[in-house]
Amino acid sequence: MNTTKTNIKNLVRPNVKRMKPYASARDEYKGSVNNMVFLDANENPFENGVNRYPDTQQTRLKSILATERNVSIDNILIGNGSDEVLDLIFRAFCEPNQDNIITLPPTYGMYEVLANINAVDVLEVSLSSVFQPLVKNVLDKQNNNSKLLFICSPNNPTANSFDKDKIETLINNFYGIVVIDEAYIDFSEEESWLCRLNKFPNLIVTQTLSKAYGMAGIRLGICYASAEIISVLNKIKPPYNVNTLTEQKAIGQLSDRKIVEAQVELLKTQRKLLRIELENIDFIETIYPSDANFLLIKVDDASKRYNQLLKKGIVIRNRSTQHLCENCIRITVGTPQENQELINILKTLT
Ligand SMILES: *Cc1c(COP(=O)(O)O)cnc(C)c1O
Repeated sequence: MNTTKTNIKNLVRPNVKRMKPYASARDEYKGSVNNMVFLDANENPFENGVNRYPDTQQTRLKSILATERNVSIDNILIGNGSDEVLDLIFRAFCEPNQDNIITLPPTYGMYEVLANINAVDVLEVSLSSVFQPLVKNVLDKQNNNSKLLFICSPNNPTANSFDKDKIETLINNFYGIVVIDEAYIDFSEEESWLCRLNKFPNLIVTQTLSKAYGMAGIRLGICYASAEIISVLNKIKPPYNVNTLTEQKAIGQLSDRKIVEAQVELLKTQRKLLRIELENIDFIETIYPSDANFLLIKVDDASKRYNQLLKKGIVIRNRSTQHLCENCIRITVGTPQENQELINILKTLT
């Protein structure tokens, strides 16, 4: 084990280490009784449900998540979508024009976008032909400025989960912080890495309410990590990054687990049915294994099939330009009716 990496302090950017966070008005009186008069934040005093600033720490939401996921509140940071969480991670650990991150293409496009925004180099290490990490190649590629390694599992757009052993070797031998993006974990047969958070000081797990939880519109992403990493991210996050309505809506959805569980089960059954139907379509060459709510499919001519579907009113994603994804399209699993419509149309295409 590399010794620098267990010491998170050595990975934090010097300016972040030195800075003091913004102290918001309300934070100073946290824990005070409810019937206090708040004349501290220049709010409009007339109640309408949103006239007060939101809780900067989303304490109610975090305590629900902490109980449900069996972690401590100190292990959680909430963001305005995972995209904000990922951006905070860059800003905490990557020195612009000096540090680099490692990504494993084909993968989620935001890692590179965020690297570009933050003036951080991207070192790419291709996945294998069966879309698994090539562990030795990754470890050979890293250098002393490699601060983040992004592991998306289940991976977008390939839909598969990465082997547990490979991920563990990477966490144990990477010099920096390993971010496991679990946006699709609820559709997967694999266990979340959350339960092993305590074992790995350099591990960050991100999840989102945008996919399985059906709440892409409220923008809520969750970051789980050691209390030390979370406190660094807390220091640099915008104080009111999660609005009152988003937190309320999230709490509502999380308190009614049964609906989400039933939807996830239905989507997994639909994923299976879709696969069976797609196997009979003769221009489809490969349907890759999926642990997510979408299928990656290799066809004879991706642009042609994409445009044919578009003319019929069905929008899918053409992933042809992605590394290792020539002539591949990505199709999200929809409602039973939507999936049937897709199949009916695909059967008519020549
Ligand atoms: C959809 C997706 C997300 C979700 O991002 P949000 O900002 O939370 O909506 C994160 N990671 C991956 C790989 C995704 O595909």
